[in-house]
Amino acid sequence: MGNTLVIGAGGVSSAAVHKMAMNSDIFTKITLASRRKIKCDEIAKSVKERTGVEISTAQVDAMDVGAVVALIKITGAKLLVNLALPYQDLKLMDACLEAGIHYLDTANYEPEDEAKFEYHWQWAYQQRFKEAGLTAILGSGFDPGVTSVFATWIKKHKLDSIRQIDVLDCNGGDNGQPFATNFNPEINIREVTADARHWEGGDWVTTPAMSHKVEFDFPGVGKKNMYLMYHEELESLSTHFPDIERARFWMTFGDAYINHVTVLQNIGMTSIEPVVHEGQEIIPLQFLKTVLPDPGDLGALTKGKTCIGDIVTGEKDGAEKTYYIYNICDHEVCYAEVGSQAVSYTTGVPAMIGAAMVLKGIWREPGVWNMEQLDPDAFMDMLNTQGLPWEVHELEGPVSF
Ligand code: NDP
Repeated sequence: MGNTLVIGAGGVSSAAVHKMAMNSDIFTKITLASRRKIKCDEIAKSVKERTGVEISTAQVDAMDVGAVVALIKITGAKLLVNLALPYQDLKLMDACLEAGIHYLDTANYEPEDEAKFEYHWQWAYQQRFKEAGLTAILGSGFDPGVTSVFATWIKKHKLDSIRQIDVLDCNGGDNGQPFATNFNPEINIREVTADARHWEGGDWVTTPAMSHKVEFDFPGVGKKNMYLMYHEELESLSTHFPDIERARFWMTFGDAYINHVTVLQNIGMTSIEPVVHEGQEIIPLQFLKTVLPDPGDLGALTKGKTCIGDIVTGEKDGAEKTYYIYNICDHEVCYAEVGSQAVSYTTGVPAMIGAAMVLKGIWREPGVWNMEQLDPDAFMDMLNTQGLPWEVHELEGPVSF
């Protein structure tokens, strides 16, 4: 059904490519290309051992549009799945337009020198993709991604209008390390140290990073502290659900994690401003990434569960209703299936499903789309069959926190 080029060979890519190979009726040819071919070859070897499927590998710099276009032409791919880093999004969208193929990613474009978490750079490609008859899907991970599809599904099947959304992201897993992030450390620490922002009453409300903490009893995990944060889907959700009064994002962190980030921040190690070290310019956060554990290596060590979902309040036939929709995912079960922990798995599987939606022609409207703009039903069905089953329950009332 579809010839796919995946760019980037980190933790998320490994989970996604394994799942693509397990769906070889949809992903008839897979090429995996990244900055270091050796990383692609390691994934290809594991895919062959676990699934019997052969995938091709290649070296490419995603910032080099000409090289990516040439690779697309050699492979004959119809869809590019960008699982590299947010810095490469625009170059890869340019390459897709030039080569005439569809595009999908899991994170919004970020300029390297500024942490922004904004969509406007990518939304500016809307007309060009429309005119080219090509589809670009933005943010097909779990959050953003599934959490936006959850909101659309609730709107389609349970509510006439949505008033409030709280996205709750809990990682109840333990990787046994004093300090390690579960996905790319640079992106993770940029998110955590940014000011918290949420949408309320038609405007953004900004509060200091990690200043608003609430204890919540997560299904399948238990009680954890979660912190109010900014996350990119708040921008797209508040844009595409214009009636929404409040949209917030919460993520759990243990006390040890918070203490490490606080110290690292206090001593300047999380800064993205260049500094001169022994005559050479370095960016402290990039150096920190180099010395921290590689999230891709944490799979075998991580135990416990994640629980990610939305609590949505709105109206149905004039009555107020609140629903909690979520997935619970077990780190060790993910590792046994694809060799990745649940944070990579919960991002990589939705990337595969989003790609399947494009290849099957279900999400093929020309233009640039966030996940909540697309029909949720076929995607929700595939979550259930591809390892991320979800549950929805009605709650007694809106959240009290
Ligand atoms: P990793 O750092 O593990 O992997 C990134 C990969 O991209 C690496 O293989 C890296 O190469 C490669 N890469 C980086 N720069 C280039 C370049 N210029 N050209 C080619 N390849 C390049 O990241 P993750 O797997 O943890 O995350 C991947 C993406 O998923 C990120 O954008 C992240 O923000 C997003 N994400 C989204 C989530 C969601 O729920 N929506 C959740 C988690 C992550 P090398 O190996 O040489 O460094």
